[in-house]
Amino acid sequence: MRNECHKRTVQCQFCGKDFLHETLQTHQYRCPRFPISCPNRCDPTKIPREEVEVHVQELCPSATVDCPFRDAGCRHKCPRFSLDIHLEDSVKTHLTLTCDLLKQQEEQISQLCSALHTITQTTEGVFIWKISDYKAKYIDAMYKSGASSKELVSPPFYTSRFGYKACLSVFLNGNGAGEGRYISLYIKLLPGDFDNILTWPFSLPVSFTLFDQSPEPATRASLTESFMPQAGWKHFQKPAKAVESLGFGYPKFVSHDLLKTRDYVRDDSLLIKVSVDNSGLLKP
Ligand SMILES: [Zn+2]
Ligand SMILES: [Zn+2]
Ligand SMILES: [Zn+2]
Repeated sequence: MRNECHKRTVQCQFCGKDFLHETLQTHQYRCPRFPISCPNRCDPTKIPREEVEVHVQELCPSATVDCPFRDAGCRHKCPRFSLDIHLEDSVKTHLTLTCDLLKQQEEQISQLCSALHTITQTTEGVFIWKISDYKAKYIDAMYKSGASSKELVSPPFYTSRFGYKACLSVFLNGNGAGEGRYISLYIKLLPGDFDNILTWPFSLPVSFTLFDQSPEPATRASLTESFMPQAGWKHFQKPAKAVESLGFGYPKFVSHDLLKTRDYVRDDSLLIKVSVDNSGLLKP
């Protein structure tokens, strides 16, 4: 037997790197390519150390895995190799769970939508409301019963920073004196955060504009109506908690005949502006 040198270089048979003979054994406790058994003892074949983690997480048939319907509420866990059996046996349960989850999510979505809708825009006195799908909404207003198809209400807005809260209300098929032949347009004051420090009644000049959306700016003939709230008009008193009443405005804002002309309706949409003249506002 040869007396070999401890300091001679040898190659690790697993990773192929060179080591001093005396350190080889220590290296192999950590060598990334050193074959070890799967901790789940799934297979007599050994696996390189660096691949064990991926093996257990993604491949090992003996590893315990969650049912893929876990997020829908199935608490089942089993070895990976028997998951298919569980899936086949539980189709009905899984469908029911998924269906319930879907309903929950639908509810959440509609809550989010309504939260989004109540975010109040702050304006500098000008709010422009786009009414899209005009035709369908007009037909609904004509033929559907129910207040929500007769009256469309804009998202709420503040007339200035820390100002009055308001929204627009439109009846595409008219109401009151305008019913059936006009678009009626109103402004409604809503209970706002700053009401207690604002001046009442609301007395700032208001104007409504229906835009002519002609591509030629020079030929546009937008329609505007303005008014000055008078002391004593009940619509401009400090609004109570629930606002059910009609706003203030024009039952005969624009006739349907006029609306068909020019580009008041373009891309099946109307653009309506309300301007509040803040120059006389006593800032809180
Ligand atoms: Zn090695
Ligand atoms: Zn394994
Ligand atoms: Zn399951």
